Amino acid sequence: MSWRGRASHYVAAGALAAGLLVWAAHEAWPSRDIPVALPIVVTSAYDEWSDTLGRREILSDVLARAGITGREYVSFLKATHALNPRRMQPGLIFEVRRLKGAAVAHRLGVRLDPERNLVMTRLGGDSGWSETVETIPWTTERLRTTAVIQSNLYDALDAAIPDSFLPVRQRVALAWAIADVYDWEVDFTRDLRPGDRVEVLIERLQSPQGEKRLSRILAARVDVAGIPSFAFAFDNPTGATGFYDDRGRSLRRAFLRAPLRFSHISSRFGGRFHPILKRWRTHEGTDYAAGYGTPVRATADGIVTEAGRNGGYGNLIEIRHANGIRTRYGHLSKFAKGLHVGQRVSQEQTIGYVGSTGLSTGPHLHYEFLVNGRPTNPQRKDAGAGEPVAAKLKSAFDTVRAQLFAELEPTGLPAAAPAFGAAAAARED
Ligand SMILES: [Zn+2]
Repeated sequence: MSWRGRASHYVAAGALAAGLLVWAAHEAWPSRDIPVALPIVVTSAYDEWSDTLGRREILSDVLARAGITGREYVSFLKATHALNPRRMQPGLIFEVRRLKGAAVAHRLGVRLDPERNLVMTRLGGDSGWSETVETIPWTTERLRTTAVIQSNLYDALDAAIPDSFLPVRQRVALAWAIADVYDWEVDFTRDLRPGDRVEVLIERLQSPQGEKRLSRILAARVDVAGIPSFAFAFDNPTGATGFYDDRGRSLRRAFLRAPLRFSHISSRFGGRFHPILKRWRTHEGTDYAAGYGTPVRATADGIVTEAGRNGGYGNLIEIRHANGIRTRYGHLSKFAKGLHVGQRVSQEQTIGYVGSTGLSTGPHLHYEFLVNGRPTNPQRKDAGAGEPVAAKLKSAFDTVRAQLFAELEPTGLPAAAPAFGAAAAARED
């Protein structure tokens, strides 16, 4: 599955959540045009079903199955402003209602996005169709969960979180959100070990139909090799929400922990994923297995010192950063448009795409971190220190942090995570 961006994650996740709930929603679908106490005679007066826009389908295919063709189709299109037939995501779910014995459906509902529901109603005679867009009144709740790592973050969250808390796609979204919060702190493909814990306090949204989705992370604690790392959401004066540790230092650092986004390299639940081809100690860098074309990010601000073919590295980018640090990105399939030597790049900027050029047996990124010219295994300290909360906001932060901490760990600090001796040994394969 390929993802083009955040927005599409949400739409797809929303559509899937809606899909999972189709039959539940089927029963509970709000019926504005019929009395609340439904006599059996009335409910059997029409057929109701859900239909999905297939991969290579267009809107008219779904509408044809609902009997909306020819002049009906024309008047349907005339009435809708919210549906754009040329920009429709496959997987979109339509709730269709048709009177028994009728050829044409008289009601069509579709979830446009997580926030809006579209209802098209066929008016009598030649009056055509009418369009109503309903805003879904999601309600907010704060919930916490805790998971122990056995193999990876996905499996840990999957095992710890039941569907009644968050459906499966939203558990994936939660894993991505956690990885984003800790982008400068933890490489979730390499740093976690069996027995490490993840705790997270989230804001969850629930729709009247019972769909549940992640709104945002409020606080988290990740134990990496037994050492806790906290994250507390705090609104900056600029309006953006930043994450700060328990001492009020920003989680943002000079260097990202990994050049690939976690959500780009591992988007599956279940199974075993081994994004690492070789461990660093056998190698002068880190290899990340990832799909051909996966975007590669500059891990820090810097100046491009090389962008071209370089022997076994294939297509290579080298960036010079502050404090005598350089980073290298090898085997790229291609460079970002216009990338050139001397160009200033900023952290998280896409500089190229994963490939298999040079001495490489399959698509992967070779990443090197050089300190004064020597390849080094980047440690957390190399990422630099996080900017502290501004002095004048410190007491406001302390209040927020204390509140979030109490919700994140209602019983106080848990004991250090138990060692998973056997499991830990098994993972070193
Ligand atoms: Zn390599």
